[in-house]
Amino acid sequence: MEWMIWLDFSMFLVLLGLFFYVFATSTVTVLHRIYLFLHVVFMSWTFSQFAAQTVNSASFKLFYLSASYIGLSLLGLGWFAFILYLTGQSYVIRKSRLFILAVPALISVAAVVANPNGMFLSINEKLSPLKQLQHGPLYWIMIVQLILYVSVSFIVMFYKLRGENSDRQRTVIKTAFIGMIVLVAFALADLIVNIILIEEINRYVPLISVGMAFAAIYLVHAIRRHKVLDIIQTVQRDVMNTMSMGIIVLDEYDIIIELNKVIKPIFRLRIGDKFNPAILGPQFKGDVSREFMAFFEEQRKRPLDRLEIEIAITYDKYRHVIVQSAPILNHKKTPVGRVLTFQDVTELRMLVEETNSQNEQLHDRNRDLLIMQDELFQANKKLEQMAITDGLTGCFNRRYLLHQLEQEVVANIRYGIPFSIFLFDLDHFKSINDKYGHLVGDEVLCGTVDAVRGSLRFTDILARYGGEEFTVYLPHTNREQADIIAELLMESVEQNKVSTGIGEPPVSVTISMGVISIEHFEPADLADPKAFLRELLAQADAALYEAKYNGRNRIVKRKLA
Ligand code: GH3
Ligand code: MG
Ligand code: MG
Repeated sequence: MEWMIWLDFSMFLVLLGLFFYVFATSTVTVLHRIYLFLHVVFMSWTFSQFAAQTVNSASFKLFYLSASYIGLSLLGLGWFAFILYLTGQSYVIRKSRLFILAVPALISVAAVVANPNGMFLSINEKLSPLKQLQHGPLYWIMIVQLILYVSVSFIVMFYKLRGENSDRQRTVIKTAFIGMIVLVAFALADLIVNIILIEEINRYVPLISVGMAFAAIYLVHAIRRHKVLDIIQTVQRDVMNTMSMGIIVLDEYDIIIELNKVIKPIFRLRIGDKFNPAILGPQFKGDVSREFMAFFEEQRKRPLDRLEIEIAITYDKYRHVIVQSAPILNHKKTPVGRVLTFQDVTELRMLVEETNSQNEQLHDRNRDLLIMQDELFQANKKLEQMAITDGLTGCFNRRYLLHQLEQEVVANIRYGIPFSIFLFDLDHFKSINDKYGHLVGDEVLCGTVDAVRGSLRFTDILARYGGEEFTVYLPHTNREQADIIAELLMESVEQNKVSTGIGEPPVSVTISMGVISIEHFEPADLADPKAFLRELLAQADAALYEAKYNGRNRIVKRKLA
């Protein structure tokens, strides 16, 4: 059962397949995957080379050697992909193009596998062990495609190194460059030692294996040291560079370890330099420079605090910038560096200013509106006052009096509240007009009103009824009280003297008055209050007429029947 020995090998292939599947589908980066691919190629070469020398059967020897050559055939392609990715040309290795790029390597693999008539490799057992291996013409296909991939990789790296100005990226490419040189050097040495000088040395020296191990060790070390495969760092860098905020990261000795794109045109700073605010300060003028320096002085005193200032600078145009300084703390909460951020808030400030000025305008307009409203209110009040007062004497007019009386009389009758009404007329007023003229007549009229007012209470309503005839409504006033007030009124008018002009003695007038007091109430009166009021005024008029008829300067009292 000779085929049984292939079972182990089949299982090995299954396991290898699983290994590729796992790392191809897990979350490692593409760059990691390419590196792992190279690593597997390295391993397969070294192991197959070893295995080939442990077997006696020529067919197994051929099998192991073919396996190692399949790996070697893929080495160039793997390295080329690695370089493309490192130099940021990963778009070249899209799945569709990968096949075209892989064609030379695949042809080489096909040549190894097919090995027609031993045209790639054959073993002549008749020769001595060191000379048994016969490399046919197809072997050179492999060599040529390897040289092709390596050359193109060198060219790509060379151009990238010339064009790249990011230090980190250059380090990354240099690392790959050196790794490749190590490998090529060992491959050349292998060619010289094991093929060209095989007769002289008379011994097989596995130089390619050593070269592969060296290259891998070098790469792993470099990856650790420079984190060349750390895509997260690249992403962080991209994020920092796309931000509109300027960022400077300092270590604990104030050495600049990171800067983003925004900062570069503003401050002339370089990664690796010591950050010195004393150099930056003078870039600003006067006060701003002082504020800036004071800010960093403050930060030095309070290394654990987060500080912020807003400065106004003129850099290409006027700008408001918020500068923030925050400590970077390690897990023990001790500061290991600092992040400085510079945020341009000019537009925000302008917006705030504009809003403020709009607010102010609105405030002004509002105040004007309030003033206008007040003026309107005052004017209205004046109009209202004018509508109910008499222009000459300032007491209420007849319309107002009648309106008030209509309401008051109804309430008084309903609740049985006594009230009184006076109706008085100036005596012989016509003769004053005739003697002193109308203007003096007006003076006398006003003077008389003032005198009357002085004898009335605050709640009494004095109104000009017409001409030189006046009415007084006295609420809550019975006959007795009305008589007293009427007497007082007559007296004060008589004593009141009004000047008539230069050279003439002052005049005094008398009045005649009808007084009417209501103390008894008939609910029937409520049926037609207007008629009742008319009746009341008619009675008062009759009393006044009686006073005039009886000689003037007197009071005639009436009680409503
Ligand atoms: P008596 O009432 O005592 O019978 O005599 P009298 O002189 O007052 O007579 P009468 O009531 O008829 O005359 C009223 C006069 O008052 C007539 C009018 O010219 C005058 N008069 C009316 N209103 C005004 C006014 O507003 N100003 C002035 N200066 N005179 C007025
Ligand atoms: Mg009169
Ligand atoms: Mg009159």
